[in-house]
Amino acid sequence: MIWALVGASTIASQYMIGALRARAGGEVRWVVSGSEDHARRFAQDHDIPETTTDLSRALADPEVEAVYISSTNEKHHPQAMAAIAAGKHVLCEKPLALTTEEAAAMIAAARAAGVTLGVNHHLRHAGSHRAMREVIAAGRLGRILSLRVFHAVHLPEHLRGWRLDNPAAGGGVIPDITVHNADTVRFLLGEDPTSVIAESATSGMGQGVEDSAMSVWTMPSGAMVFSHESFTHPFTTSGLEVHGTEGSLIARGVMAQDPGGEVELITAEGRSALPFDTTSLYETAVGRFEDAVREGTEASASGRDGLKSLQIAMAVREAGRSGTRQTLDYGMSA
Ligand code: NDP
Repeated sequence: MIWALVGASTIASQYMIGALRARAGGEVRWVVSGSEDHARRFAQDHDIPETTTDLSRALADPEVEAVYISSTNEKHHPQAMAAIAAGKHVLCEKPLALTTEEAAAMIAAARAAGVTLGVNHHLRHAGSHRAMREVIAAGRLGRILSLRVFHAVHLPEHLRGWRLDNPAAGGGVIPDITVHNADTVRFLLGEDPTSVIAESATSGMGQGVEDSAMSVWTMPSGAMVFSHESFTHPFTTSGLEVHGTEGSLIARGVMAQDPGGEVELITAEGRSALPFDTTSLYETAVGRFEDAVREGTEASASGRDGLKSLQIAMAVREAGRSGTRQTLDYGMSA
């Protein structure tokens, strides 16, 4: 598949260019950036033949089948709408957009144009999460009682820019990390929260945006969910626990970009390590996106998944700001 990158970003540089090229025939033809100099340097570093500051030039290339959008969050919606209008498939970074209305418009436009829209929720493509989902779906934990996500990190120095001080660009830990937690919980439990309560805070890094949040979600099955995310924790590790009437899963180091970590299954038979596939999360995500394009099926992390994770994150933000329970209605993502 021939791709155009929209956004000369860190995530494209560190993970996605390699993932896009990993498949046979995978080619990155263009990089589109707001800065000519940055685009040229980025293209040189990554051996990308074409650069432009004008998105329409890349979209006019008839050999470009798909675009990968990893610009700052406020640009996702207009750039995706332009790509869809040009008949390109779109793999868009999370959060899909700044507002749920924008995300819904992207989904409607992709449907009308007959192109595939995917969101880069990488965690559901991790072998660890897929193995945990199989255990849960097979009923090995019995009835699920609770799930707790620990996704507090120490934001690396080189990413301490717009995420920490620019609400207009979609900064804040909730659009950045709560969306991933939301997608992971939905993927693991196969259900969507009906309401959330939350607290959010600035604990040392955020300027005008929250850098930490904790929330509790009500699930239709009655399972309780707890989600913790932060940019400011230097010494912790990420993790996730799922507890059922017949067993528990304890996972450490799995809310990550690389396919590591460990997962332990505890039942009446004792404790055992859960084995899982360690293929790159991003290569799996791109592979499945391309399969969806070829087969005309919904992406494995679809636009609707991106909208739902955004709805949940926005509900968490509003609950934290207002101090009131927020009810979720998924009518717009139908
Ligand atoms: P970066 O800050 O690295 O890049 C965002 C934009 O900033 C770029 O697109 C570019 O703008 C501009 N930029 C970056 N470096 C420079 C520079 N040296 N000079 C000029 N402009 C520069 O962001 P991230 O890579 O961290 O995040 C990008 C998107 O990807 C976000 O939407 C984020 O939420 C998502 N993300 C997803 C992850 C995942 O695992 N799914 C992980 C990390 C991020 P321009 O568009 O003009 O080129």
